[in-house]
Amino acid sequence: MSIAAGNKKPYDYLIVGSGLFGATFACMATRQGKRCLVIDKRPHTGGNIYCEEQHGINVHKYGCHIFHTSSKAVWDFVNSLVSFNRFTYTPVANYEGRLYNLPFNMNTFYQMWGCTTPDEAAAIIESQKQDTLTAMQKCGATAPRNLEEQALSLVGRDIYEKLIKGYTEKQWGRACTELPAFIIRRLPVRLVYDNNYFNDAYQGIPIGGYNKLTNALLKGSDCLCNEDFFSRREYWEAQADKIVFTGKIDEFYGYRYGQLEYRTVYFEEETLDTPNYQGCAVVNYTERQVPYTRVIEHKHFEHFGDAVYALPRTVVTHEFSTEWKPGSEPFYPVNDEKNNALYAQYKALAEAEENVIFGGRLAEYKYYDMAPIIERVLGMFGKA
Ligand code: UDP
Repeated sequence: MSIAAGNKKPYDYLIVGSGLFGATFACMATRQGKRCLVIDKRPHTGGNIYCEEQHGINVHKYGCHIFHTSSKAVWDFVNSLVSFNRFTYTPVANYEGRLYNLPFNMNTFYQMWGCTTPDEAAAIIESQKQDTLTAMQKCGATAPRNLEEQALSLVGRDIYEKLIKGYTEKQWGRACTELPAFIIRRLPVRLVYDNNYFNDAYQGIPIGGYNKLTNALLKGSDCLCNEDFFSRREYWEAQADKIVFTGKIDEFYGYRYGQLEYRTVYFEEETLDTPNYQGCAVVNYTERQVPYTRVIEHKHFEHFGDAVYALPRTVVTHEFSTEWKPGSEPFYPVNDEKNNALYAQYKALAEAEENVIFGGRLAEYKYYDMAPIIERVLGMFGKA
């Protein structure tokens, strides 16, 4: 349909970015009979959940993604599109060659201190917390003011020093005293023997990989890859009545107030001639001196038990974290005070827009997991 043929634009929505927010929006709008054009500057759809099949293994090209939620509406929605397997995230931490279970639970406390009962573990944590709580009291702080205080007051000094400090400072490139406390509250602390990283009711990986989910979400929409919104902005804006923008909000506004900071991740991927390299999907390297944050062995997301040995090879990725620079991929928003204040200025502009919807990690400058993104879109369509 040509624009010149009438005043009507060819699409109801131009969706910039085919990641989970854009693709879910496309799915819901299409179900309501709306016409959606989805563009993505990458050569593929799916944003950071994109997988590439190698040697029978779905490789998570932009870091590991485990779907988890307690929302039945979200779980039913994704399961109506693709079946999920029974994967449960049970990563292991390697500190100076010794292994510790994550998240912090009775197995970790046994490995750290040799204690076998919840009371013993609680007593050790309690005694290690006291210095921090006293220091906070002296300053009149009623709640932890940064990630270090939060971690020390949750699990004590031993676990902070061995399993949190080095990993966090590598991942964020900032001292734990300069990082917001909420980041570490993502991790559960439990006095039971339970290595499940998440507290959610539902968890799994799409059988056949995440591309199946993306393709199902984008069914019925027109999708164009290798198309950058900013290289032909006027042309794209003329294609639809409304825009759903999922890229960087500061870029949308030409960086007029300055640049928001992000962390980026880069990956070193290799195929190894062994069926089972590390025995689990993810090992976190928590000491500062090891340059990578974690090692991912992709086959363990979808092949369990003896099935691991049915494939003779394995694909392994070392993950490194660095500061974002123009031209690199933004992965994690840095939600410290300075950046949050800058984001608030952009958000005020966004709220005044009548025909642009902003959503996702980059447009909302928010450390989002997958399920809350879907939940937000379902909510916009009255379905959450
Ligand atoms: N973290 C840590 N040690 C670990 C794993 C995580 O200290 O072995 C901290 C780190 O600060 C990280 C935060 O917990 O940023 C959240 O971890 P999560 O696994 O949720 O991060 P993601 O998977 O999103 O990278």
